[in-house]
Amino acid sequence: MTTLIINIKELLQVEDSPKKMVSGKEMKILPVVNDAFILIENDIIINFGEMKDLSNLIADKIIDASGRIVLPAWCDSHTHIVYAGNREQEFVDRINGLTYEEIANNGGGILNSAKLLQTTSEEELYKQSAVRIEEVMKLGTGAVEIKSGYGLTLDAELKMLRVIKKLNKNYPITIKATFLGAHALPFEFKNNKNDYLDVVINDILPIVAKENLAEFIDIFCETGYFSVEDTERLLNAGSNYGLIPKIHVNQFNAIGGVQAGIKYKAVSVDHLEEMRDEDINALKNSNTMPVALPSCSFFLSIPYTPARKMIDAGLPLALATDYNPGSTPSGNMNFVVSTACIKMKMTPEEAINAATINGAYAMGLEKTHGSICKGKKANLIITEQIPSYNFIPYSFGNNKIYQVLIEGKII
Ligand SMILES: [Zn+2]
Repeated sequence: MTTLIINIKELLQVEDSPKKMVSGKEMKILPVVNDAFILIENDIIINFGEMKDLSNLIADKIIDASGRIVLPAWCDSHTHIVYAGNREQEFVDRINGLTYEEIANNGGGILNSAKLLQTTSEEELYKQSAVRIEEVMKLGTGAVEIKSGYGLTLDAELKMLRVIKKLNKNYPITIKATFLGAHALPFEFKNNKNDYLDVVINDILPIVAKENLAEFIDIFCETGYFSVEDTERLLNAGSNYGLIPKIHVNQFNAIGGVQAGIKYKAVSVDHLEEMRDEDINALKNSNTMPVALPSCSFFLSIPYTPARKMIDAGLPLALATDYNPGSTPSGNMNFVVSTACIKMKMTPEEAINAATINGAYAMGLEKTHGSICKGKKANLIITEQIPSYNFIPYSFGNNKIYQVLIEGKII
């Protein structure tokens, strides 16, 4: 099955051979082919270029993209899409003046989601999560990372990870799984943090590894949650099973989580709303991708990741949604890209790089996703007829998507 897309006004993020990521000044460069075509065989991009170089117009399916822009589908490297129910009441509580930390201290927050998930059947959890997967695919996401961490017991964490595995099997979107057993301290371990970490490390982690349920390991390294010492202990245990760190750090406080991540060769350190100069310096010359989650900052009204300062210091940056019931009930990468431009002063080129190739790197998919390159997955967004790619972040709240192709098929 071949698909040929012709008369593309601007074909974005093209490359001749897969690059790892883009950093610093390179992030302002978005390689474009004007008046372009792209040829797909089954799920793979096999050719692209200028229309004038297209020798014949033969394919099983031809899509005329006159006036439209084509770009790689979004790579959302940080989500918690598998969850039960929602937390709309906490949303209202916050409007009425309670802080995120006060809600958590009152037994709400992550523990509230965990309680509900523990009593939700695997089938029901799958059903609720599949709705969100279908939703993000329509919004142009072609690859997504999903974390556990709303289970907080052996059974419930494994249930989440099995649901993630099943979603990956049943949908064309590429899904990467992360074990986040150390997301919060369950109520019964309130005064015994080390005992809970023992459960995570000695009881849950070996089964996660044995059943091949996750590729990455995560922890919420934050004041009031898990310390840097706890983080190092967990990452060390994870490394014994070959799990790569991908961790929550510097959301409310900078306590050294960035350095711990780098020490254990994290593929990414995520959140980073609070960044000290020493955190930025530590990331230089590392292979760890910093990931910003602007929808979370928007929803919680907390500071945004200082993207300008980080990119100007030469760092790469990826953008992700953090789709979760508590702090970001949205999986819309188009909104993330707009918000990065509007609130973090990233240029459209930087934001698109951050949401495609750098997002792919942040979940180990840079060889197959995140750009238009021969041999990569045919995961594409075809926009509505718009004047230029600047219009994508400019028209915030309007997704401007005409069609999404994942693995070569129209969604
Ligand atoms: Zn998160």
